[in-house]
Amino acid sequence: MDNPPPLSDSLAGILAGIEKSRRGSPLASHHTEILAASKGQPASVIEAAIRAGIGLFGENRVQEAHQKWPAIKARYPHIRLHLIGPLQTNKAKDAMALFDTIQTLDRPKLAEAFAKEHVGDRRLATKNYFIQINTGEEPQKAGIIPQEADGFIRYCTRDLKLNIVGLMCIPPADQPGAPHFALLREIARRHGLGELSMGMSGDYETAVRMGATCVRIGTALFGERKVD
Ligand SMILES: *Cc1c(COP(=O)(O)O)cnc(C)c1O
Repeated sequence: MDNPPPLSDSLAGILAGIEKSRRGSPLASHHTEILAASKGQPASVIEAAIRAGIGLFGENRVQEAHQKWPAIKARYPHIRLHLIGPLQTNKAKDAMALFDTIQTLDRPKLAEAFAKEHVGDRRLATKNYFIQINTGEEPQKAGIIPQEADGFIRYCTRDLKLNIVGLMCIPPADQPGAPHFALLREIARRHGLGELSMGMSGDYETAVRMGATCVRIGTALFGERKVD
């Protein structure tokens, strides 16, 4: 191959980091997938990432995803797109049309909005969801606080019949991730949930060691963002 783009190099580095972290870590999952956090990245960069081998992307905003993704999906139908940012209840329907999986289910009203759409269109009932847990109990951050997680997970699965596949968290920026990843893992274990979306550019190796099945990587793959 001639002159691989730098993105292939960063991807190779991250894959090596994942492999290294997995080795000798009894808690590590058998599969950890990279989700490319592509907020702020133009379609050209996203398509370069697809050509480098990335099959899973995450966007934070419905509107931005709406502008970028229908055209990319038309060209690359096998690529999967997850919502990883907060969602307004009145955008639930739009989000379901755009995203394969919602990783940021974080409150009863939103869960009820999804369930209502499922009733209207049974095909949507197969959609997958992660519940976002506010492991650091930060008032400004989205997510269910740990003490309320068991009740909320039961409400979503038993009462609303949502297909909850796992949990996600964004630990406080100024704390080590490990205790938060351990807490997320423990809550998921209690409910038999297999997917753990945890770890970003700065701490994905720790997250892999603690059992992440999905690491959400932006900066380490694409370089510094101009805006968040
Ligand atoms: C932007 C973003 C990421 C990626 O962050 P980096 O530190 O750039 O890797 C991961 N998760 C969420 C929810 C994000 O918004």
